[in-house]
Amino acid sequence: MAFLDELADKIDGEQELTPADLKSILELEDEAELHRLYALAYAVKRRWVGCRVFLRGIIEVSNICSKDCYYCGIRRSNPHTQRFRMSAEEIMAEARWAFEHDYGSLVLQSGEVSSSEYVAFIEQVLRGIKEMSYGRLGITLSLGEQSEETYRRWFAAGGHRYLLRIEASDPQLYAQLHPADHRYAERLECLKRLRRVGYQTGTGVMIGLPGQTIDHLVGDLLFFRTMDIDMIGMGPYIVHDETPLAARMTVFDPDRQLKLGLKMIAAARLLLKDVNIAATTALQALHPRGRELGLQAGANVIMPNVTDTQYRPSYQLYRNKPAINENSEQSRLALEQSVAAIGETIAYGEWGDPRHFFNRGGGSRA
Ligand code: SAH
Repeated sequence: MAFLDELADKIDGEQELTPADLKSILELEDEAELHRLYALAYAVKRRWVGCRVFLRGIIEVSNICSKDCYYCGIRRSNPHTQRFRMSAEEIMAEARWAFEHDYGSLVLQSGEVSSSEYVAFIEQVLRGIKEMSYGRLGITLSLGEQSEETYRRWFAAGGHRYLLRIEASDPQLYAQLHPADHRYAERLECLKRLRRVGYQTGTGVMIGLPGQTIDHLVGDLLFFRTMDIDMIGMGPYIVHDETPLAARMTVFDPDRQLKLGLKMIAAARLLLKDVNIAATTALQALHPRGRELGLQAGANVIMPNVTDTQYRPSYQLYRNKPAINENSEQSRLALEQSVAAIGETIAYGEWGDPRHFFNRGGGSRA
């Protein structure tokens, strides 16, 4: 426990955590020590961002994708994926549902497409959602790498947050996870573009990847700090058997993946303090209460799926994605109960922008 006593003193004294501290955090294994770690992170969360959960209803707009990432089930060359794109009317219906149920924000996520037709389609959808909700629904976009011009158009149309995971902040590890034409430098440049345009900018990584070491994860945490990121969306890697990376993950230990995911959340909260951190769906895929465990380790955002159930089976980034058959109303009620069970409340009707964005002088468009 000596390390955790030291860590607690450091946190009390508002001292910066060192890379060695982060490494020791990620190496903790003992259950009692892990509980203490989560409690320390929870106290920091309570102090910096409070204990209310912000919701972003996620709409999985399309699984059509130009990318061929080795880990992802909707990669371009997976012939078993039945491709779809929702119509503007279908997206609007789900956005209206989220609005009527007082979700503060939406996330529009899809595979990566950059055609001028798609850019205009998203722009039109954004304007439609803003108009329907009298400007009250906040909108996060998660639509991959795009030109600065596209990011500007979508920002002008009403998107104000953007989530683009770097996936692995180490260029060599990134190169092992993607074909040669997927460029790390371009993804990094996109994160800079997003900030320049004025988005609240989020990034993240997959945790527990083949070939990934604890030092890589420490590097990821330091990357979030160097990039002065506002929001973190990261989660455990989960095998999808129709992808090339599956062959490199012969043993899949869900417990290890879950634990590593929770430790990363706790470490990110202790290091970054005032950012928003999502308890992602991948945690829930590994444990029925995965997202609640994420909240207890320092996360403060949940992204409930509000996609029509007819499309959910086709948006399998990984196997056993939860709530594939559960409609949005069932998801909502289950979530409300489980959040209440850990003594937190859902901040209905609020955007829940990351404090960090304002603390860094990002300003407000609300
Ligand atoms: N096209 C968008 C969003 C795509 S999917 C983009 O490029 O940002 C959203 C996230 O799902 C990805 O960023 C990736 O980190 C995650 N993901 C994909 N396959 C996964 C897997 N097998 N296990 C866990 N997460 C995965």
